[in-house]
Amino acid sequence: MSNTFYVTTPIYYVNDLPHIGHAYTTVAADVLARFYRYAGREVFFLTGTDEHGQKVERAAEAAGETPIQLADRVVERFKTLWVKLNISNDDFIRTTQERHVKAASRFFETIQEHGDIYLGMYEDWYCTPCESFWTEQQLDNGKCPDCGRDVHKLQEESYFFRMSAYQQPLLDYLEANPAFVRPVSRYNELVSFVRGGLKDLSISRTTFSWGIPVPGNPKHVIYVWFDALLNYISALGYPDDMERFNHFWPANVHLIGKDILRFHAVYWPTFLMAAGLTPPRQVFAHGWWTIEGKKMSKSLRNVVDPYRLVDLYGVDPLRYFLLREVPFGQDGDYSDEAIIHRINSDLANDLGNLLNRSVGMLDKYFKGRLAEPTDLTDLEVGIRELTETTYRQIKSAFEEIAFHHVLSAIWRLISRLNKYIDETAPWTLFKDPDMHPRLMTVMATVFEGIRHISQMIYPFMPESAGKMRAQLHLPPITPPYSQLSKDYTWGQMRPDETITRGAPLFPRINA
Ligand SMILES: [Zn+2]
Repeated sequence: MSNTFYVTTPIYYVNDLPHIGHAYTTVAADVLARFYRYAGREVFFLTGTDEHGQKVERAAEAAGETPIQLADRVVERFKTLWVKLNISNDDFIRTTQERHVKAASRFFETIQEHGDIYLGMYEDWYCTPCESFWTEQQLDNGKCPDCGRDVHKLQEESYFFRMSAYQQPLLDYLEANPAFVRPVSRYNELVSFVRGGLKDLSISRTTFSWGIPVPGNPKHVIYVWFDALLNYISALGYPDDMERFNHFWPANVHLIGKDILRFHAVYWPTFLMAAGLTPPRQVFAHGWWTIEGKKMSKSLRNVVDPYRLVDLYGVDPLRYFLLREVPFGQDGDYSDEAIIHRINSDLANDLGNLLNRSVGMLDKYFKGRLAEPTDLTDLEVGIRELTETTYRQIKSAFEEIAFHHVLSAIWRLISRLNKYIDETAPWTLFKDPDMHPRLMTVMATVFEGIRHISQMIYPFMPESAGKMRAQLHLPPITPPYSQLSKDYTWGQMRPDETITRGAPLFPRINA
């Protein structure tokens, strides 16, 4: 099995400022990237921006800018947010970059040479904001089924992609790769959609000019989705650096919102097949966030502006909340009450308090100095076994991209350690000098457990993991990453290590 791991977010459209939905997908991709890097895989984590199309052209016009001026401005908002959210992307692709324009043109020509692109006339219902044509049956009470707005008849000369020819190959691919789409419910929906038939797809426009010109016929620009999806391979160096391309392709997972599943799981694999390339291994469609029970609107967006949330709650609590609150793949609801509850109960009470009380006890009982544990009882063996079980659960939950399961497994271990402290009652052991070796064994076990927890939470809360490790005098988790085998082995805390007290990791928030 290949040791590479290629994960992507969608490229975000620059006619919109970043909101919680963008932050959600990107944090999720970052957590996967950090987990697999730490596990020793060679990770390539890509995000970027989608900058072509009529909507951008119009938004620029309205703002009195050229489209590229608008793109240059908005792209900085995304890049700054990714820094603020501690996102570790390896590359940032913009569809206006030379490397992408070149790749898209070449890809178009390749399919054309294979005979799967032809020039024809297109007429159907068109939704301008969505830049999508719809058939009569697809309309929802005469409106656009995606956004609910008015549509109008539009006819234009267009290049078509012979998607109809790929219905059976796509069904075969879906059958051979039952994990291609997740969650499972989406996979099933998609299979029935494809069984319903695939029509040829219009892949060029003549009604505006802000896009990549069709090779040999610059009156047409390439349809924005055809252009955008190609970012996943242009960033790998296609078509000039096929060695690098083949090193990382096919992508392990494209993380997307459920609204763009069809583009990623129908259009994209058939484009790739037509160009003689392998489809990605998996497309994972996550759910949507509502805000205090309401659908997100422009005005509600201010409330959940990710910049504001980081300033209010801190980067790690926000990252934790997004992936803990809702099973990945399902819809979720944001409320200040919910995030404050998570911070106070899971982070401050359970994790923060475990570290804080343990450091305090070691400081008081042994001046902060650890020593070798002796005479292990079933309790200590049980903690060690639970730690090993937890790693196995984390690994398989990551394979399923079930972040909430990863986190609940980690929190079972945190609770167990808190309970172990209560059961062993170090404050009682301390009163009897004969019990001091036993007390040291308890302390050593607790700190070894905390060391493992700092590793387990690292992908989700890298900054807090670093702060925990600093108190334990352990190096931060940074490249070159140590391998699972050593760090994940029980008993790596050095005896005689001195623990130093730090500020509380997660201060309680008073609502
Ligand atoms: Zn629409």
